[in-house]
Amino acid sequence: MAAERILVVDDEESVAVTIQAILEMDGHEVVTAASGKAALEALRDGSFDLVLTDLRLQDLDGLRVIEAVRERSPDTITIVLTGYASLDSAVRALREGAYGYLLKPCDVEELRHTIARGLERRALGQQLRQRVAELEQANATISGLNADLERRVEAATAELRQNVERLKELDELKSQFISIASHELKTPVTAMSGFLQVAVRRLQRFLAAAKAEANGSPDEVRQVVAQLEIVSRQTGRLARLIDELLDVSRLQSGRLALEKTEVDLAALSREVAERLQHTAPRHVLRVHSAAPSSVVVDRDRIEQVLDNLVVNAIKYSPKGGPVDIEVGGEGDQARISVRDRGIGIPRDELDSIFGPFYRSQDRRAREVGGMGLGLHISKEIVERHGGRIWAESEPRQGATFHVALPRKDGPRAA
Ligand code: ADP
Repeated sequence: MAAERILVVDDEESVAVTIQAILEMDGHEVVTAASGKAALEALRDGSFDLVLTDLRLQDLDGLRVIEAVRERSPDTITIVLTGYASLDSAVRALREGAYGYLLKPCDVEELRHTIARGLERRALGQQLRQRVAELEQANATISGLNADLERRVEAATAELRQNVERLKELDELKSQFISIASHELKTPVTAMSGFLQVAVRRLQRFLAAAKAEANGSPDEVRQVVAQLEIVSRQTGRLARLIDELLDVSRLQSGRLALEKTEVDLAALSREVAERLQHTAPRHVLRVHSAAPSSVVVDRDRIEQVLDNLVVNAIKYSPKGGPVDIEVGGEGDQARISVRDRGIGIPRDELDSIFGPFYRSQDRRAREVGGMGLGLHISKEIVERHGGRIWAESEPRQGATFHVALPRKDGPRAA
């Protein structure tokens, strides 16, 4: 470390020289000034760590020296030398910012001690200022980073907002498309389906009459009937798909109203099973119920859910087998479970199958036709009744779908 520079101001030369000698022995660099004027010049020409000045100078007041130090280098420590007679001016000097004072004639140890403390104080002050400067610098850096981060977050948020808007528009368009398409398709398909059924029935009657008259039934007509029956079945399928689209559209726009009445779930299940058994000769549909199970629900909508679950159980067990519909429940909840022995559902798809337009990744499931709307619609219907629907499946063990419904009148659809 460089030696500290000290200015000693005293017009008594012997005092100045003595102090100089003492301080130089401690390794300081000492400059002496024998008058106030000389002191001011020395302050102008060089910088000092500490100024030790007599207060009673011939040419000017020692306080002037202190003032000069404060103006030029506020970090420099000042210590005043004073006699008993001028203690009050020492007090003034302290008020002016002097660090300390020494009484003349001063004791060598006291002098060295006071100077050392003054220098130590200056070093601490410098360190403190340096730390403050470092902190300010760090603060400025952090502020810069913060501003940068804020800008980036704002930019990202703006982009996200834009994307959300775009997605909303697309979603809106998709809903409009589904709504318009399903409404526009519904009328012609309903008409086609109706006329086809009538035409098929007429032709069948015609064939029966021809047979009765023993004319034999013309093969050509019989073929036409067979073809028309296929067209009729496919039209029926088309009509069901359009109904699903209409339901989704109603659900999306909140237009699916529920009309609740008291319904016996066991009776309803038997009805559904009986009707669907005709379409599934390779399956055995069985209803198990210990007791009547009454709930307050929209009958048509819950029938639609049951229908959907049982049709799926049939569709996704192509080799046939039993489909068990169990009606039960406990406490204030009624429960219907539909179990098949079909292809089952991969564990990681058990939740996603209830999403709109979701179709399994499983190849065997993809071989079966469908739009992936049935379960989505069922879930919405069940939830609007305040109930819950979920699926369970073990590999190669088939699938079980559960529907839980509150026995009391659940919350009505919004
Ligand atoms: P989809 O019209 O495709 O049958 P759903 O919404 O009814 O639409 O079913 C969604 C998907 O869930 C189906 O594509 C199928 O992969 C799977 N799934 C539904 N029910 C069963 C079941 N009983 N067994 C196996 N997979 C099923």
